[in-house]
Amino acid sequence: MTADPVAQRLQKRLPVPYTEWLPELVRRNVGKWVDRRFHGYGIIEHISSTGDRVFTVKVGTPPNFRMSTETMRKFIDIADKLGIGGIKITRNGNLEILTDSLDKAVKIKEEVEKMGFPVGGWGPTLWSINSCTAFLTCTTAVVDAPSITKVLYDHLKPYFTGEVKLPAKLRINVSGCPSSCGGFTSDINIVGHYGDAPTYDPERVKLCLPRSAKALEAGHVPEVAEVCPTGAIKVYGKPDGTVGLDVIRSKCIACGRCRDVCDWMDFDESKIGVAILVGGKASNTGRGSMPSIQVIPWVPAIPPEYREIVAVVKKIIDVWRANAREGERIGDWIARVGMEQFYKLLEIPVTKWNKPVAISGEFGIRQFGPI
Ligand code: SF4
Ligand code: SF4
Repeated sequence: MTADPVAQRLQKRLPVPYTEWLPELVRRNVGKWVDRRFHGYGIIEHISSTGDRVFTVKVGTPPNFRMSTETMRKFIDIADKLGIGGIKITRNGNLEILTDSLDKAVKIKEEVEKMGFPVGGWGPTLWSINSCTAFLTCTTAVVDAPSITKVLYDHLKPYFTGEVKLPAKLRINVSGCPSSCGGFTSDINIVGHYGDAPTYDPERVKLCLPRSAKALEAGHVPEVAEVCPTGAIKVYGKPDGTVGLDVIRSKCIACGRCRDVCDWMDFDESKIGVAILVGGKASNTGRGSMPSIQVIPWVPAIPPEYREIVAVVKKIIDVWRANAREGERIGDWIARVGMEQFYKLLEIPVTKWNKPVAISGEFGIRQFGPI
């Protein structure tokens, strides 16, 4: 047990001796950090009350933080050679290399840029794009969020590095399905969905239902209905004693969970796309935290270039850059000018089926007409 009272208190709450794993310079300043300074986008100086300094170099990494051990070793070599032997990985997938002088921080920046990785993602820039894992380890993905994220990075890198100025911080989240594991509090949320409610063969779908209406009455809720997050699947006993199934389209968010447990639920693959939501933020700056608003219910998700998604995201950023005040996040700007003006600037017609929808069960399937 450490003699340091601050460390003792932390260990009580987190019953692992985590300070043992910290680099010495960080360990001896636990609880003593009092200030910070910024040196361009991507280098941050942290100042301790002891007079110690740590410099963080923020490195943009591949979507969903996927990289080979060989690449990781190269970063570790840089952290050992020029840093204080410490790296940190943020929840958004930035890799941060820690060092003890600005000169070394600048050299680290040069080394990682030589490897092909950008440094940035801090202040009024594009921060690391948050991507869920999607197909690689998840069972419910509809679109491959990391490959969409990669393409967005390719087009938006100057915003990440600060080469092109933005009015304020910009966070983008890409989710492979409407579960949206990254949440709805990013400035731009891109959420994969099937584009329409499932169809099914009424006879074959019986293989996923209780064998009789009596079993249903006895409380046997079939998994295909149980997994539906919005209660869009209704099962009912028929007069002939068998069981039927209905999908209530107005409730369906096209997530595909029903198909994960019942092969007889089907989707039209040509309708796979993403919904685009804007204006979310978790911070209390400007008008405070706000959830995203769905502005475009469906854009096709066509790999490998995802041109349509890139075009929409770039357009949103362009109109925001051209019209927002300094420091105004997308949500604050839209709240000031109004959604109608935002749509006008985006040059998107507001129709019955293409209109702003606060996050709700209406998410996902409206683009294909009446439900
Ligand atoms: S958002 Fe959907 S696809 Fe992505 S990890 Fe979560 S559940 Fe899986
Ligand atoms: S796609 Fe999702 S929301 Fe729609 S019926 Fe299936 S489980 Fe329910």
